Amino acid sequence: MSTKSTGQKSDEPSTDEYDVAIVGGGASGLAAAVFTARYGFDTVVFDRGPSAIHRCYSIGNYLGFLGIDPAAFLELGRAHAQYEGSEIVDDFVVSVERDADADGFRLHTQDGCDLTAASVIAASAYNADYLSDLDGGTFHESGTHPVDCEEATGRTAIDGLYVAGWLSGSPHQVLISAGHGARVAKSLIEDRRLANGFWEEVAQYWDWQVEGGTYGDESWQQHIDDWVEETIPEDEAISEERRERVTEAITEERLDFQLSDAEREQRLADGAALLREHVLEAEPLQDAKQDPQHEQDPQHEQDPQQQDHEQLEA
Ligand SMILES: Cc1cc2nc3c(=O)[nH]c(=O)nc-3n(C[C@H](O)[C@H](O)[C@H](O)COP(=O)(O)OP(=O)(O)OC[C@H]3O[C@@H](n4cnc5c(N)ncnc54)[C@H](O)[C@@H]3O)c2cc1C
Repeated sequence: MSTKSTGQKSDEPSTDEYDVAIVGGGASGLAAAVFTARYGFDTVVFDRGPSAIHRCYSIGNYLGFLGIDPAAFLELGRAHAQYEGSEIVDDFVVSVERDADADGFRLHTQDGCDLTAASVIAASAYNADYLSDLDGGTFHESGTHPVDCEEATGRTAIDGLYVAGWLSGSPHQVLISAGHGARVAKSLIEDRRLANGFWEEVAQYWDWQVEGGTYGDESWQQHIDDWVEETIPEDEAISEERRERVTEAITEERLDFQLSDAEREQRLADGAALLREHVLEAEPLQDAKQDPQHEQDPQHEQDPQQQDHEQLEA
């Protein structure tokens, strides 16, 4: 774990090279970070600036919460993402450009950070100005949103760049944004697996946990071998070495899905502690609407649903 799961943001990233950089630490960005970090990607989330979630008075439609203060919700989400290994940095991304040397992207921030990431997830709701230099300014015009992407998967015309949550045009709800962030992270993971020799059907990754001892015996291994064999596309020449490498990787990751009783108990206890600390026994939180780091975008002072209705009626 790179930072403690405090729910607080750190001042700066711990390194200058990441697998995944996420711009925006709302529901979509934090959910994406949970998934990419759990997969094992070094993940950093930058979070500062205009925010939709800080404009909610109370979130009453998130499954399991009759009402939760948005600031407490974000603290809990940050603590979870940190627990899985993500870093969360209080800084504003001002530009993202392609970096041919690093085979990915270079990000610059307001506080002077300059780092590379193999993939970027844009999860910043209203603001996407930092994308406007990409591809000589042809990818995205400054200030406009949503950003052009395949809404279901978050993929864009630029390899390695994804869009999640409100910025993608997905429906404006916290629960949906969280689900979308997770879905987009899964697209990213799938694409990286394809690039690493996995083929279409086995490139899917399921983040599961099962009871220790469920997997691993001879018949289970046979089942995995047979399944991998069945998925090999007929029209693709796949070498014996590649087949073995992929089978081995899938065997390993499935074995890792298993949790011992002790690990399960530990996660349950840690989860309960995070809830107690950030929600149940939390001190009253600062009014997020007065937090200067989350100033409202004057373009979005109006209720977005109202804006949508007006656009439809126009
Ligand atoms: C007035 C209002 C009330 C609402 N009430 C509800 C409700 O009751 N229930 C509900 O489900 N939904 C509600 N919504 C919708 C909900 O807020 C959004 O659907 C949801 O927050 C979108 O999540 P997101 O992750 O896409 O964006 P956000 O939650 O806005 O997160 C984006 C994050 O990106 C950060 N950011 C922006 N630019 C940068 C940058 N360049 N660098 C670094 N960080 C950046 C911001 O600081 C922010 O934290 C409401 C929205 C509004 C406007």
